[in-house]
Amino acid sequence: DGLGSTGARKGPKALAAWTIWSLLDTRVRPMSAAELRRGEQSALHCSGTRTLQVRPPGGGPDMAFRFGAVLDGACTQEDVFRACGVKRLGELALHGFSCTVFTFGQTGSGKTYTLTGPPPQGEGVPVPPSLTGIMQRTFAWLLDRVHHLGFPVTLRASYLEIYNEQVRDLLSLGSPRPLPVRWNKARGFYVEQLRVVEFSSLEALMELLQMGLSRRQSSSHTLNQASSRSHALLTLYVSRPTVPPVDPGEPPVGGKLCFVDLAGSEKVAATGSRGQLMLEANSINRSLLALGHCISLLLDPQRKQSHIPFRDSKLTKLLADSLGGRGVTLMVACVSPSAQCLPETLSTLRYASRAQ
Ligand code: ADP
Ligand code: MG
Repeated sequence: DGLGSTGARKGPKALAAWTIWSLLDTRVRPMSAAELRRGEQSALHCSGTRTLQVRPPGGGPDMAFRFGAVLDGACTQEDVFRACGVKRLGELALHGFSCTVFTFGQTGSGKTYTLTGPPPQGEGVPVPPSLTGIMQRTFAWLLDRVHHLGFPVTLRASYLEIYNEQVRDLLSLGSPRPLPVRWNKARGFYVEQLRVVEFSSLEALMELLQMGLSRRQSSSHTLNQASSRSHALLTLYVSRPTVPPVDPGEPPVGGKLCFVDLAGSEKVAATGSRGQLMLEANSINRSLLALGHCISLLLDPQRKQSHIPFRDSKLTKLLADSLGGRGVTLMVACVSPSAQCLPETLSTLRYASRAQ
């Protein structure tokens, strides 16, 4: 499963100044107990491994969406980790590239489950190993891989949440207050005073993840389900300690691997949303639209001008060097199989195909 084995995957798109490989997979979660109880029917069929077939329940023509991989309700967390090829992104990050994994979809579609597994069953109760998500699996793989690299690397992590266009540090030591996003020539966009923690063991990284996850959880009680209305970005930074002599055969410095649990993409009915909800809906839609717009511009081979509107949202600002740099972006479109969710599912699938 080496770097070169892209196999039948969507190939690299070479651009004037960028090299982006955009990978797009979809995961259909199993019917939930509630959906089954209500007798809801499935509207999705995984025909083969790369096409998702949508069969509208009231008749109407079937629709088909192509993906790098279609993962159905029978897929385990390990199946998903393998099929999405996240190791390849990790390998690139170790060699100086900037890679990003997104999960995208409506609230309840399995974004968080796919990245980090089910919510903990209680205070301090760990997620069973068989149910951990892409993130924990990548972490374990990465720490193991680092020991076999043959050159030293420094690993650091940050974990933040963007809620209503405000950045909150999920690893802050004090009480988290909104942090400003700044730009300068040397660093590009960055979050001022963001805590970036060096770690060298899997246990230490898992602790950071746990700290951030529990902060997200606790904020969701007070802030009106804030966890489904915020974007969470965990970034791993890989750098080479600056110890000469540098072997010219060694890989370049400064890779990144970012995991993004995007806010729920559902439309908030315009009539029903006032005040806080309206504010949330506006900032979510704005950043998801900005993200889709940036990705499709980056992937457009006909693109004439090099201007990408990263400044349109905090999310795109913070992802600018991952998206616009050299690296691979993987988006996993998460959907519910239920016919009741079909309007949102179609909008997820269409958004995803735009980013393809
Ligand atoms: P989202 O983050 O998109 O809002 P969640 O990841 O929280 O959605 O998933 C909603 C619920 O469905 C959670 O209870 C989660 O544990 C469950 N779930 C999601 N995907 C799966 C899956 N593939 N298998 C089993 N349960 C799942
Ligand atoms: Mg979630």
